[in-house]
Amino acid sequence: MGKQQIVSRMLIGGQLVESDSGQWLDAIDPSTEELIGRFPSGSQADVARAVEAAESAQPAWGALDPVSRGKLLRKVASALRERSEEALHTEVRDTGNTITKMKGDVESAAYAMEFFAGLGTEIKGETVPASVDNLHLTLREPYGVVGRIVPFNHPIKFAAHALAAPLMAGNTVVVKPPEQSSLSAGILAEICRDLLPPGTVNIVTGNGMPAGDAIVRHPSIKRIAFTGSVPTGLRIQRAAAETGIKHITLELGGKNPLIAYPDQDPEKIADIAVSAMNFAWQGQSCGSTSRLLLHESLYDKVLEGVVERVAALRLGDPMDPASQMGPLNSKAHYDRVCAMVQAGHDDGARLMIGGKRPPGAAFKKGFWLQPTVFADVDRSMRIAREEIFGPVLSVFKWRDEKEALELANATEYGLTASIWTNDIKAALRAARAVRAGYVWINGASAHHYGMPFGGMKSSGLGREEGIDELLSYTETKSIHIKLT
Ligand code: NAD
Repeated sequence: MGKQQIVSRMLIGGQLVESDSGQWLDAIDPSTEELIGRFPSGSQADVARAVEAAESAQPAWGALDPVSRGKLLRKVASALRERSEEALHTEVRDTGNTITKMKGDVESAAYAMEFFAGLGTEIKGETVPASVDNLHLTLREPYGVVGRIVPFNHPIKFAAHALAAPLMAGNTVVVKPPEQSSLSAGILAEICRDLLPPGTVNIVTGNGMPAGDAIVRHPSIKRIAFTGSVPTGLRIQRAAAETGIKHITLELGGKNPLIAYPDQDPEKIADIAVSAMNFAWQGQSCGSTSRLLLHESLYDKVLEGVVERVAALRLGDPMDPASQMGPLNSKAHYDRVCAMVQAGHDDGARLMIGGKRPPGAAFKKGFWLQPTVFADVDRSMRIAREEIFGPVLSVFKWRDEKEALELANATEYGLTASIWTNDIKAALRAARAVRAGYVWINGASAHHYGMPFGGMKSSGLGREEGIDELLSYTETKSIHIKLT
């Protein structure tokens, strides 16, 4: 693709359009800080146009039988696969995530479409023996227009996934991609324009304020799903409550524990601790196990192994298949992550490796930070409690299981947890005790479609990636038919 700039457009009412406001936002390559393209800065008026188009399209879309909707979604999935190389290259330049690992993103989005396409006939109601002289049945109906807002770490994967369940349930959608990395949304926009009835999918790029906020506040949008940070999730709840009675799903941040019991091989735990930090996208993953909770008998050996492995990570041009880590996604995010590294120093954690801009001419420009490991972290420190969403691993020592489980639960987050032991009773005790929505025993990171994904505590509301997500885009209607 070379270094030409990309101009991406929004999709409203079946047309690729610029913003009414005439404003654009710059797309910056985070590895070089070069301008690589631009995209429309969506306004409140753009959102209003998008919702109007979605409202007009919804009755016909909702009236299609689920098999026909599923067929169209499968076509979108195939088109995504056909353009996966282009999407991959755009995405890697725009996000800074490394190319080898990002290869899975488009496939994962296409798979989500096909998964939900296959669940169409599960959008079913029930018959209920509530009385003898009536037949009581329920129907599941779409909300109408669904608003979805997605974050920067996997832009096309999340934007495409965001369409699948609401569309299958008969809704039309207005989706807002992240302002830091919106270029790949242009590809999705072209695919949806070519394959779906106009207005079925509308893509409005732009900042959270005003574009995201306008989606949340729009009176015709009763159903909203948001993936992003806790502070934005709180803002969205407030804005929604100020403007209507709305059903909101929130997929928010994580500060996920990986708990290693004394029966574990330190080398294996060091391997998994590094891989589950997702350094390939700079730790910028809600599911990264950014808190490593080690039994004291493993502590020194695992720490040594983790530091060795982190030291060997190869930072470099995200487009180079040999690179194992790229830059942080944006200047603002880089500054936030660096401030958290400073907080680790200030609070007295022991820096084992990293914490600085990598040396060398290749890293002078761009939002580069070395992969970083802090040891001897205790629960009072900011790096123990706050999501960093960067390449920073905090390591804790525990002596007995009670302490481990208290530590695991000692944050406001509750997204995932990874438990490592061959003692089945201990594993199940821990799995029940952790307040997290998605728990692996002797595993980490993997998502399994069909299993509900989502967070407890401040990590979220609602579950995605399974039948719960599909049904959450429907409202139940009860019908009573008098038989006597
Ligand atoms: P963010 O909350 O800053 O932004 C996310 C999206 O919200 C962006 O599109 C942004 O433009 C929009 N937005 C911002 N302010 C808004 C407002 N007032 N009203 C409406 N929309 C608004 O998050 P981010 O920095 O892009 O992403 C990182 C966060 O996302 C992390 O906390 C991470 O853990 C979380 N995340 C969660 C999951 C999950 O499945 N639980 C997955 C990926 C990322």
